Order: sequence, then C-alpha cells, then structure tokens
Amino acid sequence: MMASTQIRKIHMDCPICDRTHEVEERKRITSTTIKGEEVFYEERFYFCANADEDEHEFETGSMMNENLLNARNAYRVKHGLLTSGEIVSIRESYGLSQVDLARLLGWGEATISRYESKAIQDEAYDTMLRLIKDNPLQALEFLKKNGDKFSESKRQEIRTKIIEKLDSYGKEYLTRQSFESEYANFESPSDSNGYVTLNIDKIEAMISYFAEQVSNLFKVKLMKMLWYSDALSFQRNGVAITGLVYRHDQMGALPVGHYSLMNLENLNVREEISYNYDTMLHIYPSENADYSSLTDEDKYVLDNVISKFKTFKAKEIVEYMHEESAYIQTRPGEIIPFSLAKEIKPFFS
Ligand SMILES: [Zn+2]
Repeated sequence: MMASTQIRKIHMDCPICDRTHEVEERKRITSTTIKGEEVFYEERFYFCANADEDEHEFETGSMMNENLLNARNAYRVKHGLLTSGEIVSIRESYGLSQVDLARLLGWGEATISRYESKAIQDEAYDTMLRLIKDNPLQALEFLKKNGDKFSESKRQEIRTKIIEKLDSYGKEYLTRQSFESEYANFESPSDSNGYVTLNIDKIEAMISYFAEQVSNLFKVKLMKMLWYSDALSFQRNGVAITGLVYRHDQMGALPVGHYSLMNLENLNVREEISYNYDTMLHIYPSENADYSSLTDEDKYVLDNVISKFKTFKAKEIVEYMHEESAYIQTRPGEIIPFSLAKEIKPFFS
C-alpha cells in the first residue's frame, strides 16, 4: 500500500499549469548547505499532477520562508544554538517586543527580528540570550547597563516586566541555582559524571517518570534508581543520562547535592511521618510534568530500571546495591566512577 494518507489536497490557482485545480501538498526530508555545511530538514511543497514536463513542484512565498526557517533551525540544533522558536519564547517570557529586547541587550534594533525570522545568531549573541533565559536577575543587569537606550517611562515598564518574571520564576530559579552550585567542580564531562554535564530538566522529568509508575517511591529508593539508570545508560551507550555525580554512602550511591536536589521546585515531594516517627520524603508525579527532555533511549533505560526495582523496598534495593563492585571497590565518601558503575550485575533476566 502506498503511504499516501498524509497528502493534503488544496484547491488553488496553479502556477505550473496555469489552471485552478487540486494540487497536492507534500513533505520530504531534504538537505541544503548552510555556512558550508550540509544540513537535513523537512521541506513542504506543492505538487501539480497536470504538468507533463519535469517541473511538477512549486512553493509559495510563505512556504519558502518556512522551509528556510526549518533548514536554519536544523543547523542551529546541530550546533547547539537556540532555535528561532526558542528565541521567540525567551522574548515572550519577558513580555518584550523585538525592538525592546534588542535594545535591552545592547544590540541593533533589528537584531532580534532577524534572529526570529532568518539570520543565524553568532555564538556570543546566543550566549547572551541564554544568560537571560533562566535568569531574570541577569536581565536586570542588562537594564542597568543599557537603560539609557530607553525613555524613562519605557525603562520603568521593562523593569516591571522583568520583576514580574523574577517573582514567578524566582523560587524555581533559586532552587536550581543552589543545586547547580554544588556541581561547580563537575562542569566538564568525566568519569565522575558519566561524560555528561548536569541536566536538571532531565532529572526532574526522570523523577516524575519514576513516580508515575512506582507508588512507594521514597528518597532512599529514588537515589538508587537514579544511579542504576545512569549506570545502565553508561553501560549501553558510554554516557550517563543526568550528569549527577554519586558518592559511596552507607545506604548505597548518593548524588552530590541530594538535599538541594530534593528541593527542586518542579518536583512533587511531600514529607510524611513513618510509623516510627521518622520524616520520610515521598515522591509523587509532578503536576504538568514535561517529559520532552527524555529521549526514547532514556525511556528504555528508565522502563527497565522501573521494572527491575518497582516492588523493592528501600532496604532491598540498598542491599542489592551493596553487592555491586562499584560499591565494594569504593570507600565511604568516595566518588563512584562510571568506569566501575558500568560493571553492574546483569540487568536483564
Ligand atoms: Zn497545476
């Protein structure tokens, strides 16, 4: 059977055969050269079945712009640059116009407009946008520096908008900051972090993902499930998932910064009192959990960790970990290197 279900037909004036008829709207993955480099992207075009020559295809002006945008975004993703859509959402999170954001950052007035529509930003510009993305305080710094580019009333208006973002975002930002600061010594990929740097979006997504399927998820068990996920990912792919660094603790592997980790604003953690009056941290799925940061491979690893340990009590998973060579061959307080973590006991029965 032909895979023709995705084809849309549109009644229009066709520039190929000069008649008004149904033309097909088609999509394909194609490549183009940007800055001397081949990039692959999705292209949309119209197809006229009436044409008898080779020229069956055409694009409207808006389609051409959209295709160009897709190509440039593919280049950006490949180079770790913000996409045009991400730039729009940073700007909108501050409620600023294109011109105002450009002025705030001390750039030419048309710069943001160009980055949202066509030009690819230089790395220095990308870095500045990322600085304000998660940090309204940084935006306030820019306002101090570039405030003279605005009228007094405009400056007040922008200041108010930044403060609004700071209020709504402040708590989340501060909890992330304090967690990140514990990883200041682990900013480059190494055997300690499984050759990935700290990714808080993934950590939050993973924890909620576990909690969706594991009802008795308390802190001790969670810490072990995080370690096993990173260890299994490292064993399979040579890289961990989270960028967490784990130390040898009496109860097994324990991430550096675990107190701040449990305080992350996007986690749904409740203190509960156990039968012997201990305070226990019970983890529930997050409201509005966003799992988009997890790849299919990540989810495959998590699903296996869940199915292995789902029914384990905290004590059982701790005892299970105590038999790992990663635990046996490290001493209390030492970092558990991933070169040892990958030696975990066989995971698949
Ligand atoms: Zn036609």
